[in-house]
Order: sequence, then structure tokens, then C-alpha cells
Amino acid sequence: MVSKGKTSVTFHSGVLTIGGTVVEIAYEDAHIFFDFGTEFRPELNLPNDDLQTLVDNRLVPQLKNIYDPRLSYTYEGDEEKTFAHTAVFLSHAHLDHSRMVNYLDPAIPMYTMAETAAILRSLNRNGDFLIPSPFEKQNFVREMIGLKAHDVVQVGKISIEIFPVDHDAYGAAALIIQTPDTQITYTGDLRLHGYDAEDTLNFCVAARHTDCLIMEGVSISFPEREKDDATPEIASEQDLIAKMKEIVLANPERQLTFNGYPANVKRFLEIVRNIPRQVVLEANMAALLKEVFQVDVPYYYANPQQAPIPLLDATLALPYPTLLADTNKYFWQVVDHFENLQTGGLYIHSDAQPLGDFDPHYQIFLDLLAAHSIEFVRLACSGHAVPNDLNKIVALIEPKLLIPIHSYHPELLENPFGERILPQRGEKILF
Ligand SMILES: [Zn+2]
Repeated sequence: MVSKGKTSVTFHSGVLTIGGTVVEIAYEDAHIFFDFGTEFRPELNLPNDDLQTLVDNRLVPQLKNIYDPRLSYTYEGDEEKTFAHTAVFLSHAHLDHSRMVNYLDPAIPMYTMAETAAILRSLNRNGDFLIPSPFEKQNFVREMIGLKAHDVVQVGKISIEIFPVDHDAYGAAALIIQTPDTQITYTGDLRLHGYDAEDTLNFCVAARHTDCLIMEGVSISFPEREKDDATPEIASEQDLIAKMKEIVLANPERQLTFNGYPANVKRFLEIVRNIPRQVVLEANMAALLKEVFQVDVPYYYANPQQAPIPLLDATLALPYPTLLADTNKYFWQVVDHFENLQTGGLYIHSDAQPLGDFDPHYQIFLDLLAAHSIEFVRLACSGHAVPNDLNKIVALIEPKLLIPIHSYHPELLENPFGERILPQRGEKILF
């Protein structure tokens, strides 16, 4: 039986945690989901990434008729309805929002910004970013329908408009979802201190007085966290580039290397534009820059066995040993084999993996650099609105109802303009 004229929101996962947000909005015979990543819990040391393993360990939720039916998985939830219209939306390319896209039923359409689709295909070129589908080749990425800013998608009686926002993954987007009785807004991950802050502000204007604002609260997750001495105060992406430039200028005769998070394509672009040495990128990153911004950058293959990437200009390729021997000409992206770097060199870790001490690999990585007497400098700039900016975003939108998610402490985000709900994992709210 089809229920009439009621919108529901179900928080399948990603509520009192960071990552793995899967929220469902349903109206009559249609429903949509956002996003489709997994929770990141490396300390669990799971034996595999099989769907049933992920569900059993609560890294992904129970979902009925959403996962690829060829995967072995038994639904154990309590959804009884079946739907005529289903679609999935991705807000951005970060793994906690995208990692299980290949587990989505191939018959269900997936929508995201065209940039995000391009970034995911590029990051998964070697098949080690997304969880692979057991039915496809290793580097397969399921079909994604790439949207432009403000495109509107209709799913049954639900319409969804996509808005670009500023985040440290290029192509990040928010959604404004309209059902016949309710407007629901999903922020995705966003901030006000990057190159595209204007996009976030424009989105806030469009979402003003929304009925329900589902909002990320990553930065209020760690009220007890102390300032990390190794991390200089960095207030914006521009500030980060300025600090990086200072370090490069202060070290004229020294091997200088760096790494960052590939989805932050804009940061790489600004490094290429602003650093006063010849910037050299690892080939896969160079290909991503070429694809997204049509910019050619000198590059090298970290893996000499990798087949040449046709997109890249072969005349810009540099031999890896040239970079390893250099002390004054290049500022190059190093992605592995840090033990090959020169003793006495300096490496800038700019939100690269391992991301931080919550990952057991982080300390191992620091120890390796220390053992080789390579100076480690962390230059980080968060992809998430700082607490004051979260309040500012709420104040710009003035939602009737606020639902903070994607945070360890959602209760710290208040709504002076209306109601607030703190849902539990699996909770369904009826409008
Ligand atoms: Zn993110």
C-alpha cells in the first residue's frame, strides 16, 4: 500500500559519527538517498570489504533493495514498503561519502556534480580508492550522472536541486529537496574559508527558511582537542599556500617534498601556481589537474610499471631518480617510498593520508620519517566550517528545524530560529 502525502526522513547511518552518512527521504512511491560512503574505522582491521562484513560491523547500514542484488547480503531491517522511484545522490568525492558506490544496485541512478564524477573516476584509476565491484574489473567506477550547478532532478514527486559549496573536495555540493509538503536541505560538507566560500554563501541564501536543515557538524566534534604544536595556525586555503611558500623560500638548498589529498584539486592548482620552485606532481594527480582544470604540470610516475596516462603530455614527464637527487630545483609530490628521500630533507604533509593520529598508520609514518631524518611539517586546513561559521550558516539559513549530523557532538550545534532534533542511527522522522 502506498502511503499518501507524507514526507519521511530516515537516518540510516552517519549520525553520531563522522562519515558514512546515509539518509533517505521518502514521499509516496519515491525515495532518494544521500550519500554512499562508509564509516572509516581502520582500527577494526576487518578481514575484507564484503558488503555483509561492512553491514555486520555497522560501517554501512541495512538497506532494502538498494545494494547490488548480485552481492551476498541478507536484509535484516524493518522496511516493508517497495518503491517505484529510487535515486542516490553524492555530495562529494571523499571516501566517507563515496567509498561504496560500486555496491549500489546498477539499476539505480546515481547523481553528483560532474566534477565529483570526474574526480572519482580519476582517483580510482588504479582501482585502489573505491571498494571494487566483484563483478567488474578492479578500477571500475559505476555510472554516475554528472550534474551542473542548479540542475534539478525529479524522482517521483520529489525534486532535488544541486548547489556547489566550498569544501576541501572540489565539486562538493549541497542539496535542496522539495516534496509536495516539505523542503529539506542537506549541506553535505561545507565551509566558509576556502576558495569557493561565495558558493556556500549563495547556497545559504537559496536555503533560507528551509523547513528542515540537515547539517554537518564535524568541527564541533572535538571540543576537548588541544592545539597540535606541530600545526601552525592556518585560517584559510590562501593562508596555507602562503605558509608553504614561506617554507620553500626559507630552504633554498634542501630536498623539498609534499603531499596532499587528491580530491582537493584546487589546493594542488594553487601550489602549482604559487610555489617558487618547479612543482612536479605524481602522474595520477597531474592527470586529475589536467582533467578538471585543463592545466599541464610536470609529472613523474611513482610506480614505474604504471602504463602511461594518455591524457598527459609525454614531454612533461620527469624521471623519478632526477627528483630523488634534487636539492634546489623541484618541489615535488611524494606519495610512497618515503624511505628513498634524502636525509635532511623536508616534507610537508598537507592533509595527505594518513590523515591524523586516529589512523594507526599515522605514527608509523612519522616514525619512518624520523628514522630517515626527514623533517615533517604539517600544513593542514580543514574542509569543515569552524564552529563560528557553523553558527553563521545556521543564522543565514534560519531553518525551521535543524538536524545536525556527521559529528560526535551534534548537540553543540543550536538552532536559535526554531526546533532542533538529534536523531539516533536508524531513526525515521515523519513530517
Ligand atoms: Zn568531506
